[in-house]
Amino acid sequence: MVNFKELGLVNTREMFAKAIKGGYAIPAFNFNNMEQLQAIVKASAETKSPVILQVSKGARNYANQTLLRYMAQGAVEYAKELGWEKPEIVLHLDHGDSFELCKSCVDFGFSSVMIDASSLPYEENIALTKKVVEYAHQYDVTVEAELGVLAGVEDEVSSAVSHYTKPEEVVDFATRTGCDSLAISIGTSHGAYKFTPEQCTRDPKTGKLVPPPLAFDVLDAVMEQLPGFPIVLHGSSSVPQEYVDMINNLGGKLPDAVGIPEEQLRKAAASAVCKINIDSDSRLAFTAAVRKVLSEKPGEFDPRKYCGVARDFMEDLYKHKIVNVLGSDGKAE
Ligand SMILES: [Zn+2]
Repeated sequence: MVNFKELGLVNTREMFAKAIKGGYAIPAFNFNNMEQLQAIVKASAETKSPVILQVSKGARNYANQTLLRYMAQGAVEYAKELGWEKPEIVLHLDHGDSFELCKSCVDFGFSSVMIDASSLPYEENIALTKKVVEYAHQYDVTVEAELGVLAGVEDEVSSAVSHYTKPEEVVDFATRTGCDSLAISIGTSHGAYKFTPEQCTRDPKTGKLVPPPLAFDVLDAVMEQLPGFPIVLHGSSSVPQEYVDMINNLGGKLPDAVGIPEEQLRKAAASAVCKINIDSDSRLAFTAAVRKVLSEKPGEFDPRKYCGVARDFMEDLYKHKIVNVLGSDGKAE
């Protein structure tokens, strides 16, 4: 048993309270490999932004849970080397699907876990979430729960349709489970294809898809029910068209990939939304960079030459999100 505090990590409690008061949101970036983690830590350290490192089921399968945890521990030390004296870094389990998995992460040094029982019937969601909360809180580990169902595919979590969170359920759910934050469904969705062309309108000038707006009325109603309670948005990549175009122009095939417009995320970050999950955008940045280098230098075979450029692309992306979308820069000491 290792407690996260021994690893120099922090939980989300204080971070979220400050973010709600300050009208900004904490970035939650998924990581699967060293270059991505370096980019996240560098962007956070240089902008002095608190940050949440997320480990999904897909990441655990790809990179190994043990290795990822030691990498997160290394991230704290790396951040210090970069001049960030007291790094505010959370290691978070993304979409935990069982008590056993959440427990294993708590026991292994994670500072925050998500139990996603949103696909279960309401009472079963409450029972499982409560069980995880009771265990995690013994070790001061914070717990994110979910109500409502997001559409889209995130690793192995997928659903064809979304069901908005019902605002009339949130008080009962938060009170009975004791969860520290709540992921809600207001129209965001996992992956790089957040909306079908049928759900969008098309910009007559560019031919690009314009997605439907998020359901801010649902968010407002949730905030009215639970004033000051930390709200989380999953599936909040913006799918930057510069990366999509770069990929498509260099032999890729991502037709009609579309995400959440950044001005909508800025609006959400200013509210009780205090954690915004971004994964697909860094995948797009990575892929765009690799395609660019390999098309310009077909003889290149040193992975450092294209993974290094991918790392630079991701670092720029993370800084942009922190400074221009979430507003979390300068919020850590
Ligand atoms: Zn998610």
